[in-house]
Amino acid sequence: MMAHQHLAAFGTRDGELRVGGMPLSRLAARVGSTPFFAYDRGVLDNRIDALRNTLPSRIDLSFAMKANPMPALVQHMARRVDRIDVASGLEMQVALDTGIRPDRISFAGPGKTPAEIRQAVAAGVLIEIESTTELRRVIAAGDELGLTPTIAVRVNPDFAVKGSGMRMGGGPQQFGIDSEEVPAVLRGIAAAGVDVLGFHVFAGSQNLNAGIIAESQRRTVDLVSTLAVHLPRPMRYLNLGGGFGIPYTEKDQPLDLGAVAEGLRELVHGPIAERFPDATPVLELGRYLVGECGVYVTRVLDRKLSRGRTYLVVDGGMHHQLAASGNFGQAIRRNYPLVVGNRVDADPDDAVTVVGCLCTPLDLLGDDLALPDADVDDLIVIFQAGAYGLTASPTAFLGHAAPAEVLV
Ligand SMILES: *Cc1c(COP(=O)(O)O)cnc(C)c1O
Repeated sequence: MMAHQHLAAFGTRDGELRVGGMPLSRLAARVGSTPFFAYDRGVLDNRIDALRNTLPSRIDLSFAMKANPMPALVQHMARRVDRIDVASGLEMQVALDTGIRPDRISFAGPGKTPAEIRQAVAAGVLIEIESTTELRRVIAAGDELGLTPTIAVRVNPDFAVKGSGMRMGGGPQQFGIDSEEVPAVLRGIAAAGVDVLGFHVFAGSQNLNAGIIAESQRRTVDLVSTLAVHLPRPMRYLNLGGGFGIPYTEKDQPLDLGAVAEGLRELVHGPIAERFPDATPVLELGRYLVGECGVYVTRVLDRKLSRGRTYLVVDGGMHHQLAASGNFGQAIRRNYPLVVGNRVDADPDDAVTVVGCLCTPLDLLGDDLALPDADVDDLIVIFQAGAYGLTASPTAFLGHAAPAEVLV
């Protein structure tokens, strides 16, 4: 996906990018300082509407809030999705603060502390157990509090999903209980005073291949079909994971959502309806929901020429938006879509390199880009900044001030 497609999604007027309906320079004045992250409600709502209109209606949509835990954004999401998935006690608190029903919050992730588990049991949050140690702690917390915890078993499948930016299932994993161990674990649970709703299988992240996603969802349904006979009660919860990717560079093709939805329709109306009529199928998405609604806005502090190469030095960098520098697990560094936000109509006339303000050559935001003639005080905008941005970046590095975040 190219910069001009992002410009079209957000809108432009009088040569400026619009974010939240505002010309960028006015938004920057309103925020009061650069750099900042801005999340556009319109772009976000369009994405959710597109998903709702394409996916089978029986599927619950869950927001994996680690992708963007900004409280105002989570609040916005809580009214638009069916569930929120959290990965820590603090995220759980932010999710509970939205007023969403606690049983619509799921808590996943390895290394949950005993305190976090007690917090989840006390609140009535669904705990997705990743190990037998966690199961023991959940049972102990339920005994201590006089409550019956609700859980789902996160299963580490016996297959791997190809084409994921990050693989989180198949082979040995810190995530989930190996599928071949699950029957014994479930037999042990039967008399233990926990309510087991079903299963969670999340096998990978940032996948742009609809065929592979559909195949892994089919295999997930086959796998849980062999495990479900060991559940004490009929399955009520089937979290199929997600992993839908978004295009970050010119090499990436957007995910064919229609093809994914077609596969899901066959599953939901076929084997899921037949074998698990009481189960709510859930898709759990982070990046795909919020990634495209966010921009990271920086200001040019310096323009310098070094031996024939022009550098634009901006007031932000990898300490806020690590992924755009190519250092968030990427094997090959490629430029994220980037524009001069206050000169979007100007013709590119220069090859420039955009760097952040950190003392490391890793702080590279745009390498050898054709950009309109930009100078000090112009606003450089990096798209695809709504997921795994600020909270996935080393903000303390060099001690610069934290950027503002606004939902507009
Ligand atoms: C991180 C995570 C997600 C969200 O992944 P995205 O790639 O952002 O969609 C969903 N479920 C679990 C269990 C996760 O750990």
